Amino acid sequence: MRMMPATSTKLGPAACEKDAEKLEFIEEMTTKADEVQEKVLAEIMSQNGATEYLQRYKLGGATDRETFKSKVPMVTYEDLQPEIHRIANGDRSAILSACVYVAGLDKGKGLYFLFVKSESKTPGSLPARPVLTSYYKSHHFRTRPFDPYNVYTSPTAAILCADAFQSMYSQMLCSLLDRLAVLRVGAVFASGLLRAIRFFQLHWQELAHDIAAGRLSSKVTDPAVRDAVAEVLKPDPVLAEFIVSECAAEDWAGIITRIWPNTMYLDVIVTGAMAQYIPSLEYYSGGLPMTCTMYASSECYFGLNLRPMCKPSEVCYTIMPNMAYFEFLPLDAAAGSPPQLVDLADVEVGKEYELVITTYAGLYRYRVGDILHVTGFHNAAPQFRFVRRKNVLLSIESDKTDEEELQRAVERGSELLKPWGASVAEYTSQADTTVIPGHYVIYWELLVREGEGGRWPEKEALEACCLEMEEAMNTVYRQSRVADASIGPLEIRVVRSGTFDELMDYAIARGASINQYKVPRCVTFPPIIELLDSRVVELHFSPACPNWTPHPN
Ligand code: AMP
Repeated sequence: MRMMPATSTKLGPAACEKDAEKLEFIEEMTTKADEVQEKVLAEIMSQNGATEYLQRYKLGGATDRETFKSKVPMVTYEDLQPEIHRIANGDRSAILSACVYVAGLDKGKGLYFLFVKSESKTPGSLPARPVLTSYYKSHHFRTRPFDPYNVYTSPTAAILCADAFQSMYSQMLCSLLDRLAVLRVGAVFASGLLRAIRFFQLHWQELAHDIAAGRLSSKVTDPAVRDAVAEVLKPDPVLAEFIVSECAAEDWAGIITRIWPNTMYLDVIVTGAMAQYIPSLEYYSGGLPMTCTMYASSECYFGLNLRPMCKPSEVCYTIMPNMAYFEFLPLDAAAGSPPQLVDLADVEVGKEYELVITTYAGLYRYRVGDILHVTGFHNAAPQFRFVRRKNVLLSIESDKTDEEELQRAVERGSELLKPWGASVAEYTSQADTTVIPGHYVIYWELLVREGEGGRWPEKEALEACCLEMEEAMNTVYRQSRVADASIGPLEIRVVRSGTFDELMDYAIARGASINQYKVPRCVTFPPIIELLDSRVVELHFSPACPNWTPHPN
């Protein structure tokens, strides 16, 4: 058989002909970005022109940009709540969408921890489930044709098992049985992969026992999962012993490459709020590269990272203009009225925008809530760095701390833990106004590398972290602390190990999806605060005021 030479594209050589086609498609879409956008909008408007929502704006059948922009308003989730409630309650008329567009998604080969969530039904009997659950349950995923680039260690039955423990246990077990075949390890978000590692820490003994005996734990009861595991589980005392010897050591540094030694990279999203997991992932993987391939949401698939092997700090996503009609609200103009939305092809490099989408599924000029920074263009399609989600704030009075600032403060504070061999594994926060003046409370779960000579940081060190975080806060915060004394000293509440897993379990029990779960960076819901407070092992306050000097006139 003669091998075909790999085709070279502008993005580099393709691994195979099929990839070459995909790369060419990306080239074509991004080259004609504005043209594609015009076409997408016309398609959405003609497909959905007769919906109740669009009829309201009297477009008279027009599908062009000018009419769309002059007549259809920009909206938020709250604006659409009445329509969404009607749909959930069973109104089958064409309210927002005339039909539903299902995007095809591709996943690579490897060890991926993927989960579905049990479905609920709306009062009107529509299934309600997160987008990834829909995708895994769809025939696109279940009956996907064999593709050598698309083989998972997790049996489909294990992914489709809605019981979180049984699903995770069997996925982990199968990945151990096939450990030498694993070339990449991933989950959707970095937090999901760390949760899997935590699960492994808690259950390696049981897993090794099952492998030694060639018998699956009776805790896994789902018959489809049992059948799938039975196909690959045979007694393997040598492997069981290997797992025990690797996991019994206190030091879990590099555990990923020790157990799955052929892993070349981690495939997880580590941008945006996920950036804070990078140090933990580096620790457990021994510094493997991390690839963030996509930027997507339940509402719409947005873009691709065309340089997947770049450093996490350099990741930018190229918006694929065929996925939806994209508009951008300049950040500095957000307060002005009426807001001037910019088209995909017209955004300016260096500026920040809020993403506004019009989708085939029936959202019109919908504010996703993400802030993006334009870093450049690939052909005519802009590329964006994910900056943050809007409106995640801590506020005691006039101060406003967003997610990015809080993240920066935690990063700065946690630098002081390095000499102790410790780091912040997880964090969240609360604006505590039960005492006057109110103050910021930051909950920290610490990871102390005891196996590598690390030790638990002393009181003074954690107090210094409090002050360092205050130094990293914006000037309004520091002024309130120093000049007005309207904000009290920042407090760190150290919670015991495993608390953030409990927080996630709690959210999942209340209906969150495992794949799409993100640790809230600020908590306000009293039962969550109660849960956190009941796990506090130490609390520390900032011992002094941060620096602040009034600006000279
Ligand atoms: P969901 O609808 O639950 O899937 O959440 C979608 C949101 O997750 C997006 O609007 C972003 O705020 C965030 N998100 C998705 N992909 C990324 C990414 N690659 N980097 C940073 N944040 C992301």
